[in-house]
Amino acid sequence: VDAPVLSDAGTPLEVLHRVFGYSGFRGDQAAIIDQLVAGGDAVVLMPTGGGKSLTYQIPSLIRRGTGVVISPLIALMQDQVDALRAVGVRAEFLNSTQSIDERRQVERDFLAGSLDLLYVAPEGLTTPRVQELLKQGEIALFAIDEAHCVSQWGHDFRPDYLWLSNLAELWPSVPRIALTATATEATHRELTERLALQNAKHFVASFDRPNIQYRIVPKDEVRQQLVAFIREQQAASVDAAGVPVPAAGIVYALSRATVEKTAEFLVSKGIDAMPYHAGLEASVRARTQSRFLREDGVVIVATIAFGMGIDKPDVRFVAHVDLPKSVEGYYQETGRAGRDGAPSVAWLAYGLADVVQQRQLIDKSPGDRAFKQRMGQHLDAMLALCETVSCRRVNLLSYFGQEYLGSTAASAAAAQEPTGLLPPAAPACGNCDTCLAPPETFDGTVPAQKLLSTVVRLKRERNQQFGAGHLIDILMGKVTPRVSQHGHDRLATWGIGNELNQAQWRGVVRQLLATGLLAVSDDGYGTLVITDASTAVLRGERRVELRRDVHESAGRATARTP
Ligand code: ADP
Ligand code: ZN
Repeated sequence: VDAPVLSDAGTPLEVLHRVFGYSGFRGDQAAIIDQLVAGGDAVVLMPTGGGKSLTYQIPSLIRRGTGVVISPLIALMQDQVDALRAVGVRAEFLNSTQSIDERRQVERDFLAGSLDLLYVAPEGLTTPRVQELLKQGEIALFAIDEAHCVSQWGHDFRPDYLWLSNLAELWPSVPRIALTATATEATHRELTERLALQNAKHFVASFDRPNIQYRIVPKDEVRQQLVAFIREQQAASVDAAGVPVPAAGIVYALSRATVEKTAEFLVSKGIDAMPYHAGLEASVRARTQSRFLREDGVVIVATIAFGMGIDKPDVRFVAHVDLPKSVEGYYQETGRAGRDGAPSVAWLAYGLADVVQQRQLIDKSPGDRAFKQRMGQHLDAMLALCETVSCRRVNLLSYFGQEYLGSTAASAAAAQEPTGLLPPAAPACGNCDTCLAPPETFDGTVPAQKLLSTVVRLKRERNQQFGAGHLIDILMGKVTPRVSQHGHDRLATWGIGNELNQAQWRGVVRQLLATGLLAVSDDGYGTLVITDASTAVLRGERRVELRRDVHESAGRATARTP
């Protein structure tokens, strides 16, 4: 007779009440737990804050043996284990930060069957020592966290995840659950296949985060813009009882240098900001993180190293001063705002230089052609989100293959509306910048032609290529040293672009780059070249619709209602 599969912990609901002290399950939690308790596999796509952890923690307590959680976030294992121990769950982790003695103790506890949960890093699992250990103990389930990391097409591929395809063969009777807070349909399919989860049940929650207001603004003086944004957030911040509280936030930048400089600047403006990046000493980082978690109103300026899995529910804003490399990254980072459900803002300042810089980074990256193509596609999707003139939320959700179905409040109101009288409302969220202040568009065909023909003439007549700044100087009829030196004031297009100012021209170049009507050359200097698609514009066969940038100083919607 086989040993019983279940422990005597009780039903999922009893465990939820007794161990975690919550009154009921949310969303798909109960269904996911039932699936695992019954021995089945599950694939779970649920946004940050949705409550993924309980979906494997509770089945680990209910099934006999130890639940093995595979997580790439070594830095957070200690916190997760501490939180579980605080409610009486027997949890441990195995990773490279431990001493031999600590590891041996955990191994003994596991073999003795006295652990409910064991967290391991994916690179640990690929070692024979850990594999041997797991074979000798009793395993309740495998939980694969951040499962999108197995996808080569995703934005966060980790080679160690590939080994996880072996779990199905090595432990055919142990249920497995893969979880992620970010997955396009392609990534969803790929992770299902690579993790051999063909027989799994799929639980796909809505990725909408209705309390996050999305704002993407043209970059002028980015640090000044950031200060203005943070001050506005801090002035608006109140707690549930309406009492003002200093707002905590995260500012993301791509480089350590920008992180340091931005943090210094914020401090000089009286904002309680601290830098965070991998180059800082561990003790400094730990102190920064703990101030952020424990005190009100701390602003962290960080590279993307910060935030993975940090469970601070009341982050009121996430700001990006550099363009994220992918929509997945943007969604994941902005998702750290407002886990408590209260109104929060995701703010991104983005400009021409970002587009040029990112295209160059891709060109210079050591990857092969397929890799660069993939990065290019990620960037294109991010640019499309930045340049859209319709609802950001609709765009974001459609990237993840989801349709925006309206806020719960809106759909409840719609349900009471007599049907057939009104046309269905346009799908728009009412809580993003383009919904709150619909951007104007204008026919940009003529400016686009002027710019493109300048690029073409320089190439054809003089075999020269230039960056955006010089091209704009030519169009605006400026006499700079460089214009004089090259005799560019004799070009037919010199001085024909005075209908737009410098900022507007930069907006035109940015949008042409974003839509592939102009490209950054691979010469390493950020010079611009035309593309196959440019020809139709030059011939007058294609109209170019452009978004009129609204610069923040000119006053814009700052409403913050959810
Ligand atoms: P995720 O991993 O999906 O980002 P977590 O598992 O960290 O989300 O859960 C987010 C927060 O919601 C945590 O503070 C968690 O304790 C809480 N939570 C999860 N499920 C429930 C529930 N059923 N009732 C109350 N709180 C819950
Ligand atoms: Zn919207």
